[in-house]
Amino acid sequence: MEKIILEEVPQENILAYGEYFQDKLHPSSLEILTPLKEVSYKLGKRLILVILGEELDSFRDLKILKKILADEVWFILHPELKHFREDLYTKVLVKLIENSKPLGFFFPATLRGLSLAPRIAGILNLGLCAHVNKIEVENSQIIMSRPTYGENIIAKLVCKTIPVMATISLGAFSIKEGEKEPLFREIVFPENFSWKSSIKIRKVNYTKKEILPLSSAKIVLAGGRGLKRKENFLKLFELAKLISAEVGGTRPVCHEGFIEDKRMIGISGVSVKPKLYIGFGISGALQHTAGMEQSEYIVAINIDKSAPLVKMANLALIGDAEKILNLLIERLKKEVS
Ligand SMILES: Cc1cc2nc3c(=O)[nH]c(=O)nc-3n(C[C@H](O)[C@H](O)[C@H](O)COP(=O)(O)OP(=O)(O)OC[C@H]3O[C@@H](n4cnc5c(N)ncnc54)[C@H](O)[C@@H]3O)c2cc1C
Repeated sequence: MEKIILEEVPQENILAYGEYFQDKLHPSSLEILTPLKEVSYKLGKRLILVILGEELDSFRDLKILKKILADEVWFILHPELKHFREDLYTKVLVKLIENSKPLGFFFPATLRGLSLAPRIAGILNLGLCAHVNKIEVENSQIIMSRPTYGENIIAKLVCKTIPVMATISLGAFSIKEGEKEPLFREIVFPENFSWKSSIKIRKVNYTKKEILPLSSAKIVLAGGRGLKRKENFLKLFELAKLISAEVGGTRPVCHEGFIEDKRMIGISGVSVKPKLYIGFGISGALQHTAGMEQSEYIVAINIDKSAPLVKMANLALIGDAEKILNLLIERLKKEVS
């Protein structure tokens, strides 16, 4: 791998944060390369995935990186970068920005991305667009879109500062493979750089937390307020099991505790793009549809035929969501037995 000292790092490119967790590349870092490839191509710039870590051997799935859309992968390696520590990771990325003067630096809206991006923007006094789900280039300017808070409009955002910075919604884009193997480079930091962090990690206990495959599920069953009771959400899980689907829902039902927050679909949660999405008793507020509008086939079950989700659906069933859910379970159980 080619080594390059920080002071000589190429400038004015588009950078994307490559998040490693438990030595594995988070898929969201590959998702964000899809719109950014287009952006960098239109601007005539190179797209670079930036990865921080302890040493090259610590990354388990390096071969994935050979097929990504980025033109280059930059590694910043140091024993102190073994564990994610916000202050040190921020300091390193700020230093990289100061030297590489990128046109844009983009982060997946993971917990780490959401932690790093505002810290960096704060230190460098830059604007930051949060949770964008569309990035385009118009008249050589990067334009980002996201639904605005509480209103039924899509806001188009322009960063007044350079680099343009944004966090990109999870699941908003599909992962695509690149045609050419990217160039791997190690960025060597100056000897006098302080790798000190105020965070001391004494012990790391990785929980066996289930990674929810909602954003990549082929079938999504989503429940809304029209399902009314927690018991009906248990039935939604029962149906999901019968057809290998994942369960999601709207914000109010998550807040009610009918399903866990991590299953929220929309601007405050995850984006899904299944082959089949079935919405049970969901009105179709923009904050929700922004996270499911890329579904291939949409079925809406609602008593109100004028509900926005009914209007955007490929197929609408006008009727009581609970009754239709019961009928589906009954019918499918017969099919499998
Ligand atoms: C800043 C902000 C961020 C937000 N982020 C999100 C987000 O990420 N995700 C999200 O989902 N929401 C989000 N919201 C909330 C969003 O605006 C809506 O309030 C929410 O999506 C509505 O959820 P719902 O469709 O379950 O409920 P409702 O809008 O109350 O709709 C319930 C639907 O059920 C139907 N219904 C009633 N009874 C039955 C029945 N028996 N059978 C069938 N249908 C029935 C009704 O006709 C209605 O259409 C956000 C709001 C704000 C302000």
